[in-house]
Amino acid sequence: MPKYILGFDVGGTKISAVLGDDSGKIISSQRKPTVRHLGRKKLAEDLIYMGHTLLEKSGLKKPDAIGVIFAGLVDSERGVVLSSPNILGLKNFAISKVLEDEFAAKVYLENDATAATIAERIFGSGKNYDNFVYLTLSTGIGGGVFIGGKLYRGAHGMAGEMGHMVVMSNGPVCGCGRRGCLEAVAGGRGIARRVAENVTAVKESELYSKIRPSDIDAKKVFEFKNKGDMLSQLIIEETVYYLAVGIVNIIDIFDPEAIIIGGGIASAGDDLFKPLRVAVQEEFKSMQRPVKIIKGLRNGHDLSTIALPLYREAQVIAVE
Ligand SMILES: [Zn+2]
Repeated sequence: MPKYILGFDVGGTKISAVLGDDSGKIISSQRKPTVRHLGRKKLAEDLIYMGHTLLEKSGLKKPDAIGVIFAGLVDSERGVVLSSPNILGLKNFAISKVLEDEFAAKVYLENDATAATIAERIFGSGKNYDNFVYLTLSTGIGGGVFIGGKLYRGAHGMAGEMGHMVVMSNGPVCGCGRRGCLEAVAGGRGIARRVAENVTAVKESELYSKIRPSDIDAKKVFEFKNKGDMLSQLIIEETVYYLAVGIVNIIDIFDPEAIIIGGGIASAGDDLFKPLRVAVQEEFKSMQRPVKIIKGLRNGHDLSTIALPLYREAQVIAVE
């Protein structure tokens, strides 16, 4: 099994490199903002430069394995980026081959939400449950599913796109084209949009009078709810309700032991989890089940890149 792992995370807002070990310890890391017109050549150069910098700093010649996580559609078997919403010109980019040649180590590529699910299995609460669903709540909503101790990928590697489950018929239009997807309602962008839509109903919102509309995000809404702002309170109650509807739909399909929730919105902690657990119980109606709703790893994103090679190599050993 690999001991020292180099990880790269090509995300929507930042590109980061981390060097970590098999215990989940992050030895060093480096990040830079994502640039939309970066292109594949410059992206490869940046990753290579960051990787070598981290290796040199820790006195390592080469990593034992490399994990690459990517916000977009990937072919993890072939190590190819299929489409990337954040950086243009990466269609069919064989990113794994480039890094394998450079660092002389096996490269594992995965979509970011899938990799975060794997991180929960290797380093987080997912260790304790063979059947769990991971949900990441941030600007968008994604996730992954473990069934019987194994990641469930589906027929096209796209299982776990729970953000695109409709929870509000005729709701707001989602990025995917459907209406009322969980992501469009309860994702970061959906929350900000509902603030703008509801402001006329609640005249004296401190949130709306103090924060510029373009700066309103989920974090600010939670912050102003705690200051007693009625509009923020309303938005959070609605968000929690739709999340509970989505979560009970998921539970109805998979019957998991636990739902693990990560992403930026989960960092609201008890302000989110306490009402959410109550709302899920209420939404069960007559079909109560003892499913745990658990907060995910604090640094799940960094750990995703480390967890990915560990999980994939363990799978290979299990097959042999
Ligand atoms: Zn959608």
